[in-house]
Amino acid sequence: MIKVVKAPAKINLTLDVVGKRGDGYHEVEMIMTTVDLADRIQLSLIKEDQINIEVNIGHVPNDKHNLAYQAAKVLKDRYSITSGVSINIDKHIPVSAGLAGGSTDAAAVLRGLNEMWSLGLSLEELAEIGLTIGSDVPFCVHGGTAIAKGRGETLTFIPTPPPCWIVLAKPSLGVSTKDIYQRLDLNKMKHPDTQGMKEAIETGDFSGICKKLENVMETATFELAPEVKNIKQRLIQFGAEGTVMSGSGPTVFSLTSSETKAYRLYNGLKGFMDDVFVVRLLGSRYQI
Ligand code: ATP
Repeated sequence: MIKVVKAPAKINLTLDVVGKRGDGYHEVEMIMTTVDLADRIQLSLIKEDQINIEVNIGHVPNDKHNLAYQAAKVLKDRYSITSGVSINIDKHIPVSAGLAGGSTDAAAVLRGLNEMWSLGLSLEELAEIGLTIGSDVPFCVHGGTAIAKGRGETLTFIPTPPPCWIVLAKPSLGVSTKDIYQRLDLNKMKHPDTQGMKEAIETGDFSGICKKLENVMETATFELAPEVKNIKQRLIQFGAEGTVMSGSGPTVFSLTSSETKAYRLYNGLKGFMDDVFVVRLLGSRYQI
């Protein structure tokens, strides 16, 4: 049996760090939504008791370090599956970009194998299993738009923002999420207005959404990688209605209600960087 599952990227409309937990994780509060930039994952059931991974990009692990492998493994172990699966990942989401590429691949494998292995698990159960793989996996299991708290696993679903164009720009440099967390000073940072963003989304107030885009990690990422700040400034100069960094970066994105403006931004950036995408919001949550 063969099945192809789509694994969409997420962006952060807000990202706040509200505390440090006893277990070493940071307590976050963020609004995430899925966009139609997606990896394509082909799952093929095999008789052999093994998990094979194939990826079309050299620097993504093709072994147990791949989060898609870990998703298959956790289901196989928990439900004593004695056959196996070959996972072929066609990556389109830039890697280490703040777009949850690995987490969404893991989530797609959980959803796909739940069906193929007839496990009958709910999305809530898959999300709980996903949390053992990574903090962003529960959101990626559900998709849609949500406020995420705790490590990122306590989800409150909200409506999807009004339709708009999103221009994503990922500079080629890498940033380490760990280094960025270490530079955060919880007392000095300006916190996003998460409640205000939620209200703007609920009332479909596009200019309010653009005004409230905010990410507490920007300052630290900009210090470590000034090029990210330059890209944000360029997007603002090109006339985007709202611009912010996603996750711990380095991807920066702009929202605009105009397709013409979206392609103007795209063309303005494409001249000097490879990873620029014009995408749409995905909207609805997955259903089982
Ligand atoms: P997040 O937004 O959740 O912080 P990210 O978008 O910054 O994630 P990923 O693209 O998920 O980062 O990659 C982070 C690391 O995970 C990379 O070092 C990569 O090698 C590893 N990795 C493991 N599995 C995958 C996968 N399926 N796709 C991409 N990267 C993966």
